[in-house]
Amino acid sequence: MAITDKKLKFFQTKLLEWFEANGRDFLWRNKTSSNYVKIISEVLLQRTKAETVNMFLPTFINSYPDWISLGNASEVKLINILKPLGLSNQRGKRLYKLAQDLKSRNWEFPKNRSLVEEMPMMGQYITNSFELFILKRPSPLLDVNMARVLERFFGPRKLSDIRYDPYLNELAKRVVDHKKIIYINWAVLDFASLVCTARLPICEKCLIFKHCKYYSETKSR
Ligand code: SF4
Repeated sequence: MAITDKKLKFFQTKLLEWFEANGRDFLWRNKTSSNYVKIISEVLLQRTKAETVNMFLPTFINSYPDWISLGNASEVKLINILKPLGLSNQRGKRLYKLAQDLKSRNWEFPKNRSLVEEMPMMGQYITNSFELFILKRPSPLLDVNMARVLERFFGPRKLSDIRYDPYLNELAKRVVDHKKIIYINWAVLDFASLVCTARLPICEKCLIFKHCKYYSETKSR
């Protein structure tokens, strides 16, 4: 069934309301955080819990405060510094390659999404974060957590890989197409982590349960 604008607006409004009172405070969300910090944080967040990344970030930024310092880093040292986060050598190497690639471009990211996506480490998720934070376009930070909330509330996807599911990607784009493009992204992610959790969603205290598909199908009987 098609998702109506009314349902979408309800979701956006309620989530932003909830975020205002309950949103989490992380270093990369500071108003003064550079685009570099925002992108690096998203790279680290792909495999690690936000609270852990938040604790680790000052150490990383202390060693590599910007793209130039990262581009001039030793690969071995970079891999070692990422070890406490449990990031594989492979990911450390890819981050190193990204910085090298950027160095060869005189520290400028291309403005075109498809070119950015071809750079080392820049899969769909990191490219989305680049579009969101740097180009300021309504792009979703669509990971398993955002997917879970959207699927429970609006209805499930068809394909197992979220990157290729057209329904989910279109839906996520519609959800973040709001004047508060960054806050709505953070709101969904925090809501996924604190309320609509993977194992035990707190539906009884959820402010959007009345229109939630999952709730109506599993709990309202
Ligand atoms: S009612 Fe439950 S499943 Fe639906 S959005 Fe709220 S917490 Fe998630």
